[in-house]
Amino acid sequence: MTNADQDGWSRVKGRLRVEVGDDVYSSWFARMDLEAIEEGTVRLSVPTRFLKSWIQSHYAERVLACWQAEQPQIVRVELIVRSAVLRSAVVKPKAELEMGSGDNGRFNGNGRPQPAGDATGHEALGGSPLDARLTFDTFVVGRSNTLAQAAAKQVAAAKRGDPVMFNPLYIHAGVGLGKTHLLQAVTWAGNGLGERKVLYLTAEKFMYGFVSALRTQTALAFKEALRGIGVLVIDDLQFLQGKSTQAEFCHTLNALIDAGRQVVIASDRPPADLESLDDRVRSRLAGGLVVEMGPLGEELRFEILKSRVTAARSHHPSFDVPPPVLSYIAKTVTHNGRDLEGALNRLLAHNKLTGHAVTLEMAEREVRDLIRPQEPKRVKIEDIQRVVARQYNVSRSDLLSSRRTANVVRPRQVAMYLAKTLTLRSLPEIGRRFGGRDHTTVLHAVRKIEGLVGNDMALAEEIEILKRQLQE
Ligand code: ADP
Ligand code: MG
Repeated sequence: MTNADQDGWSRVKGRLRVEVGDDVYSSWFARMDLEAIEEGTVRLSVPTRFLKSWIQSHYAERVLACWQAEQPQIVRVELIVRSAVLRSAVVKPKAELEMGSGDNGRFNGNGRPQPAGDATGHEALGGSPLDARLTFDTFVVGRSNTLAQAAAKQVAAAKRGDPVMFNPLYIHAGVGLGKTHLLQAVTWAGNGLGERKVLYLTAEKFMYGFVSALRTQTALAFKEALRGIGVLVIDDLQFLQGKSTQAEFCHTLNALIDAGRQVVIASDRPPADLESLDDRVRSRLAGGLVVEMGPLGEELRFEILKSRVTAARSHHPSFDVPPPVLSYIAKTVTHNGRDLEGALNRLLAHNKLTGHAVTLEMAEREVRDLIRPQEPKRVKIEDIQRVVARQYNVSRSDLLSSRRTANVVRPRQVAMYLAKTLTLRSLPEIGRRFGGRDHTTVLHAVRKIEGLVGNDMALAEEIEILKRQLQE
């Protein structure tokens, strides 16, 4: 293979990442390697059969299209499973690295401890790697996460035989707002008690474990073992896909809950919005305690930064970040916990490499590209329905009903239009949330309103007002 081939491959990966987003990319494609390019065929390898069949059935066309965008002569993409034995003999550290799933990959290479669930001997039950830094001690509590933290702590401290208070505990929040941190804190704390086995799994690990267990004909053993777990913690549930996996997930969930075992789940959206899961699973998920963690407020960002600096100082005693710099970062780097961490890492690197003290000027220069405009608020479909109903003086149930009188039809169309433009929900999902309507009905409503606002100034104005109310 030539360098040009490798360069092409890097660009294809870049395209894929942009198309599918960071999270999906790191879950499915991070471990894909280029093996060869021969006569219009690209051969790519992945470490597991599961990844192969998953990518083949969900992303084959995308991957090919990305190649063709770079190299039009490519007509075929072939996926193979690379030999684990060969690879791990050659690149040992990488094999370890590859266990990291998704966003947790960033902490690789520093000898992460494994959760206590490892001794079962079954690969599928090993649990995903934990980061030693993600504990309750390092989790800073503020307005947006008080409830989630309290619930998580309660769950972690429960002893065998204690009544289960909320099951499942379901935590949802946008990217970088502390879901993984909280879930791993539960795992560390729970396992520290030595009372009950707490197993932390990313959804991908759950799928991979299950499917490979099926392949090796030990599904029964797998299920039995899963049921022997005290607390099951599943991260990034939004990535759970595929019919058989979902059926198994549903089964496991029911078995654990019915047996009085605790289940803790994190996802980037509320249960009702997990489009690919069926209604029974969704309602089971919503049947415990559902807590949302909001965006990190400025004060919380400041406190997180402060605690990070303190932690960094234990290794780098000369690293000092004056409070005005902390305030500046807390104020301007608004996105999420990951960017805060990134900002501090840059200051630390700069400080270590140049020996210059951290000043406001230096901080302004270093974190410039992390400063982003205020993140738009996550608008919920319920909020849209509530605000629209109030504005047009109808009830929310009118909006969801099948009534077709003019005074209900227009507000309903407006609400659907807003749901499409202000949220990332798909048409079928919006239809479902509007009393189980078909996606074509939603599409019709969206087109209708789009057509009207061009000519009807009053309606355009109304919609602007609604948008402003919802985004404030
Ligand atoms: P998520 O899983 O929701 O995408 P993470 O848990 O990975 O987010 O958090 C991203 C980063 O922000 C991590 O470094 C995490 O430690 C940090 N972080 C988020 N919230 C908090 C908090 N409340 N206290 C301390 N650190 C936090
Ligand atoms: Mg996470």
